[in-house]
Amino acid sequence: MQLRIPGPTPCPPQALEAMARQMMNHRGPEFGKILNSITEKLKQAFQTKGDVFVLTASGTGGLEAAIVNTLSPGDKVLSLANGVFAERFADIAEKYGAEVAHLNFEWGKPVSLDAVEEALRTDGNIKAVLATHNETSTGMTNDIKEISAVVEKFDKLLLVDAISSLGCISLPTDDWHCDIVVTASQKGWMVPPGLAMVSVSEKAWQAHSKAKMPRYYLDFSKAKDYLEKGQTPWTPAISIFYALDATLDLMLSEGLNNIFARHARVGQTARNGVRSLGLSLFPDEKYASNTVTAVNATDRIDVARLIQVLREEHEVIIAGGQQKLSGKIFRIGHLGLVYDRDIKLILEALNKALPRAKKG
Ligand SMILES: *Cc1c(COP(=O)(O)O)cnc(C)c1O
Repeated sequence: MQLRIPGPTPCPPQALEAMARQMMNHRGPEFGKILNSITEKLKQAFQTKGDVFVLTASGTGGLEAAIVNTLSPGDKVLSLANGVFAERFADIAEKYGAEVAHLNFEWGKPVSLDAVEEALRTDGNIKAVLATHNETSTGMTNDIKEISAVVEKFDKLLLVDAISSLGCISLPTDDWHCDIVVTASQKGWMVPPGLAMVSVSEKAWQAHSKAKMPRYYLDFSKAKDYLEKGQTPWTPAISIFYALDATLDLMLSEGLNNIFARHARVGQTARNGVRSLGLSLFPDEKYASNTVTAVNATDRIDVARLIQVLREEHEVIIAGGQQKLSGKIFRIGHLGLVYDRDIKLILEALNKALPRAKKG
């Protein structure tokens, strides 16, 4: 079976075998060793010297942690949104009482840097900027380096959803002044859902010391205190920690730059392939993501039928569009455990399935 949705992604045998291990005391030295080893390896993957915490939560829990740990009710934040996940990030901030200034862009189109600059210049009260590195819903990667350069000029906090990019597409957390970066285990990390991984900069800690949003389970102060003892504040998803320890070893032995290059190659193969089938990409080409390819279905393709034919006749699982893109696009996930040969298989299946999913 080819599971090619943008998460959960397939797990290598090393991860599956690691999870067969017996439970251990999460307050004992054995778990402490695993937690410390994971944390050190994650710092390399995040390209940070700051703190990294592993929370037992899905990615959305990590986004919530970013908000509640750095902001107070009434704080103004600038949301840069061009897709489903960016809107979710802003929604979380709103629910916790932040005042959100929405800078919305057409889905699949890049964030206008001029608009960001203008917004930050005209409203001195903005405290933080919410950005999405890889917008999984539209298959595009936002230019965090450029966005960060603007945010840096105004010395604001930059909170980044890198859930479907970190570990696949380079995001140098420290060099690009990202104050919080969030990712999740079931995306590029090749392990099951259940863990959110977050980095915290010095500036984010300063904001944390004044942040008054209610928080308990996701409190970074508790995570830091416990990490110093080789523990997590609450019972962690131990089996997924076993798996992550194993896949991080695989990733570091492959080498981060090689992983980024592999995703770039696989992404290019996917894009060339869908174009050679006479299809077009949903997002602006220049920003097309190396972890998920979003394809226009046009009015000729029945997306639900296409997904069904691929699943039933080719054992290929792909994703449809979300929210207003439902029925309009389909998405091929290619992150984590993925090689050129996998994409070639998907494209062959797609070539056979497309005529069977014609409308009318
Ligand atoms: C998958 C994803 C999320 C949501 O993560 P969950 O683990 O489902 O909570 C958020 N943002 C992006 C960009 C994602 O790809």
